[in-house]
This record gives sequence, structure tokens and C-alpha cells, in this order.
Amino acid sequence: MSDSRLLYDGFLDSVARFPDHGALHVDGEELSYATLHDDARRIAAVINGEAAPTSPALVAIFAYRSRAAYAGVLGALLSGHGYVPLNRTFPTERTRAMLTRSGCSAIVVDAASGEQLGELLEGVAAPMTLIFPEEPHSAELEAKWRPHVAVGARDYAVPQDWAPRRVTDDDLAYLLFTSGSTGVPKGVMVAQRNVIAFVDVMTARYGVNETDRFSQMFDMTFDLSVFDMFVAWSAGACLCCPPKDALMRPGQFINDQKLTVWFSVPSVVVFMQRFRMLEPGAYPSLRLSLFCGEPLPVDSAVAWQAATPAAILENLYGPTELTIACTCYRWDGERSAAEAEMDLVPIGYPYPDMTPLIVDDELAEVAPGAEGELLMTGPQVTLGYFNDPEKTAAAFVTPPGRDAVYYRTGDRVRKPLGDGPITFLGRVDFQVKIGGYRVELGEIEAVVRRSGNFAGVVAVPWPVSASGADGIEVFVEGEKPEGLAGVQKQVSRHLPFYMVPRKWHFVAQFPLNSNGKVDRGALQASLRKDR
Ligand code: AMP
Repeated sequence: MSDSRLLYDGFLDSVARFPDHGALHVDGEELSYATLHDDARRIAAVINGEAAPTSPALVAIFAYRSRAAYAGVLGALLSGHGYVPLNRTFPTERTRAMLTRSGCSAIVVDAASGEQLGELLEGVAAPMTLIFPEEPHSAELEAKWRPHVAVGARDYAVPQDWAPRRVTDDDLAYLLFTSGSTGVPKGVMVAQRNVIAFVDVMTARYGVNETDRFSQMFDMTFDLSVFDMFVAWSAGACLCCPPKDALMRPGQFINDQKLTVWFSVPSVVVFMQRFRMLEPGAYPSLRLSLFCGEPLPVDSAVAWQAATPAAILENLYGPTELTIACTCYRWDGERSAAEAEMDLVPIGYPYPDMTPLIVDDELAEVAPGAEGELLMTGPQVTLGYFNDPEKTAAAFVTPPGRDAVYYRTGDRVRKPLGDGPITFLGRVDFQVKIGGYRVELGEIEAVVRRSGNFAGVVAVPWPVSASGADGIEVFVEGEKPEGLAGVQKQVSRHLPFYMVPRKWHFVAQFPLNSNGKVDRGALQASLRKDR
């Protein structure tokens, strides 16, 4: 195996340098680097000792904001596997499809997620290794989960000769599923070297050190969580994970935990503005505030900056396929409002090793000042979609006259004039952001169509906001069927909560535009008239 640096190396360096420092604050307790390492080693040793090998080497993490969740991620990596985060707050059927498609033979489960495990494993034919980090091993545990192999890891003895497994930097660090326009989520394969490139840029840029305390607002199924975990752990800092109910009181969490580094989607700022949580000077401990995942409105940046007088504020941009983020823009109270377009903070400048290309429909570069689709190449371009060469070929392309693979982001941006920042203008397709979650309207439409046997279905983001949308409403062509409630139930079993249509509208015929296509704008405008 290669000598390349792997994602866990930064964590192991911190274990050696700061064994007694806090590494993780979760569920009301603060775990030191030594303790978290101990948990993770145990899980890794179980995986290496008990789980059947798979190719690619992947382990699922069915755990949510718990000690076991973080130890599970580290354990998977130390055992030489990439991790596949699964979220118990999402519908089980969708999660089961991710589990089976990823081909994992082992799954780490925390106590609270254990209640849903039986349902998750219904119909999973191949016996899996179930790892329960919080439970001691027992005959009852084994009997309960047969024919799967259940292992309690709390008292698992790590063999004397066990050591972290080295893999190559082309191996997967994680496989993350994201909304797919044809109704099936796509698994983005992110290699070790992709994440290392990202983490290196971030630790250098922000001078992170062992006194920092990071927020963890993101669930693990959102790749922005990787920044929090691995930038913090590679510098000996502490990752502070709010429990689900504290997510509604982010301001209190910042002050209680004396956070120094904040990272969230801009929707959190909008939420805090609405509930008057952004009084000037409210959060003096923060030295760095980062936003990513959806457009950052200028007024949100202004309000946040006033509440965090000591903090540098940056807008980061990037899709999962380009490993977390690949451009950034530093907010400047004097200059930035003038550089904004559509009242959105620019997405800024590419990371040092990433190269943007802004193109027209034929993939030819547009002139400075013109709009186009943003393509990017560089070390953070991921390996494509798992077991889906067709979608990979469509999105990871070599434009005419170039010799590198670029990812087509689907984002419409303006190519800067001179050395100005790149500005974000919208999408070229039907992807939207709802509270920061990436949503393909096509996925919702496919599920609704299938569930009700409908011919024409259009999903519309509504109500819309500066940074995306708050929810979804759906239009169906035809008569409202009897048994609609049953169809709606079926839909909510297949879509995560933020994608479930809040309202259904039945129309005799869809309006068409001059090209004969369904006029989505007119459908959305009809909602405006309704209210
Ligand atoms: P995800 O893969 O879930 O991270 O979503 C990636 C998409 O989110 C991008 O392609 C953009 O459409 C959007 N996005 C991410 N960051 C920003 C940003 N700072 N400004 C505008 N849109 C963003």
C-alpha cells in the first residue's frame, strides 16, 4: 500500500500531540482525543476481525449525533474502509436502498438508531455484521439479530498486533448519496486524496489550532460535516455537536460551548434573523464564520457580521462532487455589497489548486463578464457516481480542447471581469436547495408519479426565499383520485421530510410555454396568486 497521507492521519497526529484535549463534545460529555481514539480503535478492530471484505471497502454508519456515530466514522477509516453515512431521520426504505446499493457488509449502529434497525434490515438478504459500540457483547445480542452477526463493541479486546490499515489515496473516504433527478439517489464516491486536498487548504487558510472549538451543525449525510470533523481533528481542536433540540437554539449553543469556528448553511442565519438571535455583539467568542451549501444573501451576511464582531466571515461554495467546497469569498463590510449580484454574496475565488472554466451550452469558454455554467477541475474532483457510468460520463467531462476532467456543476455563474470574484446566478437545471438540502425536483416527481400512477407531475419549490426555498408543492394533471391520502403516505415513505410535498394541486391541464413544454413558471406564479 502507498505511503500517501490518509484522512485519519491528521486525527492520529492530534491523538499523539494532545491526548487529553477535548476532541468531541456530544450528548453532554466531552471526550478526549485518547478516549475517542480508544472507541474508534475498538470499532476498527471489530470490523477487521468480523466483517466480510467488500469491494470497494465500505462500512455503513447508522447513527445520529452520538459518540458512537463519530467513533464509527473514525473506526471505519482506521479499519481501511470508507464510510457510508445513513440517517435515521430519513425514510427507512430510501436508506435501505442506499445500504444495499453500497454493498456494505458491516454497519455501525448507535443505541437510538437501534430501534429502527429491524425495519432497515427487512429484506436485506445477505447476513451483515452489526456493530453496537455502546453495548457489551452478549449471547442475547447475538440471538436477537440472527442471521446477522451482532457484535457489542464496548468490551471488545483490540488484538495486540492490530494497527490502522493503510489504503491507497485512491480508495474511498466516504460514499455520500445525494438526490437524483430520475428518482434514485446518486452515490458520490469521494477518494482519500480528494478530502486530503480539501482539508490541507482549509487548515492552512484558517490557521486552525488546538484551542479552537468547532460547531457541527451538519448531519453526517451532508458532506459539509466533513469539514467540521476533519479540519478540527487534524489540528487538535474540539468538535461540538449540538443535540437535535439545540439546533433550534444555535445562539445559545455558540455561547454555551464558547465556539470559535462556526459553519452552517445560510438558512440558519435567516432563521436566527427571524427569531431575533442576531443582536449586535451577541457572539464574541467566534473568530471564524463560514457559510456554504446555498446562496448567502447580503443582508444575512451584514446581520451575522454585526453579531460576531471578532469573526472573519466567508462564503464557501461547492457541490459534493467537488469535495465539500472549492471556492470562497471573504466578506468585507466596505467592498462586498458592491461586488454582490442579485443581493447574493459572491462565491469568490477558486482554491489554489482548483481551476474553474465557465462555459456556454457547447462547453466553450464564455467571455469575461458573461454568464455560463461553472465547470471545475483539480485534485478535489471526485471519482464519479457509484455504479453509474452513464451519469458519471454526463457530469464529469473533458471539454473540447482540454485535457483534464471537469465536473459540470449545473450552477449558472458570471465569469468575472478582471480579477473580480465569481458570482452565483442560479441553476441551469431543476435542482433546488431547501434549507440547504440539495433536491432534484425530478426525484420528487418520479416518486409522486410512481406512487399515484399519475401521468403528469410537476414539483414546484414554494415558498421561495433569497437562499432557496422553504418547501415543495406539487401539481398533478387530472382529477384528484380517491384514496389520495394513501398515495401521500406512500410518497412520504420514500422521500426525506424536506422533499415531501406540503400541498397537492390537481389541474385539468398544465399550462405550456411557447416551446410546448410545461410552463413551470406559470404554475409557480399561480401559487403566488393563491396566497
Ligand atoms: P451539495 O452537493 O448538497 O453541497 O449542493 C451543491 C450545490 O449547492 C451547488 O451546486 C450550488 O447549487 C449550491 N451551493 C453551494 N454553496 C453555495 C453558495 N455559497 N452559493 C450559492 N449556491 C451554493
